[in-house]
Amino acid sequence: TDTIGSVLAQTAARVPDSIALIDAAVDRQWTYAEFRRDVRALAAGLLRLGCAPGDRVGLWSPNRFEWVLTQFAAAEVGVILVVINPSYRRHELAYVLAQSGTSLVLAAEKFRDSEYAQMLADVRDQTPDLREVVLFESTEFAGLLAEPSADELAAVDDIAAGLSASDPINIQYTSGTTGSPKGVTLSHTNIGNNGYLVGELVDYTEADRICLPVPFYHCFGMVMGNLAATSHGAAMVVPGPAFDPQTALAAVEKYRCTSLYGVPTMFIAELALLDTGAEFDLSSLRTGIMAGSPCPETVMRRVIDEMNMSQVSICYGMTETSPVSTQTRTDDPTDLRVATVGRVGPHLEVKIVDPLTGDVLPRGETGEFCTRGYSVMQGYWNEPEKTADAIDADGWMHSGDLGVMGDDGYVRITGRIKDMVIRGGENIYPREIEEFLYTHPDVVDAQVIGVPDEKYGEELMAWIRLRDGAAPLDVDALRKFATGQISRHKIPKYVTIVDEFPMTVTGKVRKVEMRAKSIEMLG
Ligand code: ATP
Ligand code: MG
Repeated sequence: TDTIGSVLAQTAARVPDSIALIDAAVDRQWTYAEFRRDVRALAAGLLRLGCAPGDRVGLWSPNRFEWVLTQFAAAEVGVILVVINPSYRRHELAYVLAQSGTSLVLAAEKFRDSEYAQMLADVRDQTPDLREVVLFESTEFAGLLAEPSADELAAVDDIAAGLSASDPINIQYTSGTTGSPKGVTLSHTNIGNNGYLVGELVDYTEADRICLPVPFYHCFGMVMGNLAATSHGAAMVVPGPAFDPQTALAAVEKYRCTSLYGVPTMFIAELALLDTGAEFDLSSLRTGIMAGSPCPETVMRRVIDEMNMSQVSICYGMTETSPVSTQTRTDDPTDLRVATVGRVGPHLEVKIVDPLTGDVLPRGETGEFCTRGYSVMQGYWNEPEKTADAIDADGWMHSGDLGVMGDDGYVRITGRIKDMVIRGGENIYPREIEEFLYTHPDVVDAQVIGVPDEKYGEELMAWIRLRDGAAPLDVDALRKFATGQISRHKIPKYVTIVDEFPMTVTGKVRKVEMRAKSIEMLG
């Protein structure tokens, strides 16, 4: 395996004049030759700031071109990039900087009402390892990008030549969907190969332009987007600093993108925008990736039919596995492409085990999804016990997700173990009920959780977002709709109509928060 730096060098040598990066917000673009030149300049700049391989350098910014340059500059000289969630505030920021021992932070000055520079200053007394902060807007940062001397470039090359692909280069704190963030530590081998293989399965070449409204600080953007693009010579198109359906689709049209990424909620928002009559030329699209949380079949079908993405692919995985473990292939039959998360990725092993005994289950039975292979993280940064809980002695990463593999090798993810509802001794997978609710013509989005119940232990509550102008949907109406379609015990006892769900910035529904609010509502 190669280091990320050598992969970029090979691509820049092979397709120097192809577009590497487009930042729509500032309407700037880089060819691969220009991109690599700026990456190496910034790598030299990091050395000038005193960075050495293995140092932790923080990156705190919404999506913009400086983010991408920093990602590759850090990898070039073996600096471990600590990618920081743009929605963090002081408490979380101080936690990840101190936990990772970060010595330098590159950051945007601010984003919307988040004053990054100010918050970084405020946490200085809690982050003893932090020596320096450089803001993207500063003259200092411009200086880091200035043309380096021949000696400085030679120093970059020396360091690059001494790196090993098994060195860690990235710490990503997990989304925190289920609890406090853990620092997933990943190497060149982990994420470089995963990005390459994900791109391989959607047939990327230098003719592709990938529209990336997904956050870069997460594997979806930085691996499935940026590393897939650079290893295949495709272009990374940054539509804007944060997701907005209008901005994303406008970037697809303007830059003739061939691929579009999103978590399901992003595609739902784009389809809703198209429903209002907004028009975009999406004729350049052919593929894209939907991932990150359960991908409803109805949404997948609409993306294929109405967004011209006949080769759209679903990926399933987690930060701890770099991230992708299973993926649908562009030539899979449509039914499998919309209803499953595909087959195991190349060079990986998958097993489904009984969550209690750990025994491997026969095909067709639901259990915990586990992966083994090159993509499994090195561990949680400085948390050996948590690492040992997640990766067993034989190297299997336990996902905490429930899945089932058919005889054909296609995997379905039925939910998270922690989200499974046990009602009167009966295991209920909210995912199945959500899929059913999506078939209601007025339902735009639906999330199902378990709430405590004296009689049955747990009862189901559905949170539903309705189409604008739809008639109200109450429990009785829902029961009527569901009766005869799904088993009686799976029909939610409670219905709450909402305008939005509590979300992580990666676009995942925070069911932990939904449950807390529901319990409050039920008094
Ligand atoms: P935390 O681990 O901090 O609680 P998280 O698990 O949401 O947060 P990620 O690593 O970003 O953090 O997300 C991985 C999880 O997302 C998977 O374990 C799975 O539950 C869910 N997921 C990802 N892709 C899919 C998919 N295609 N279908 C269903 N679920 C998915
Ligand atoms: Mg997780």
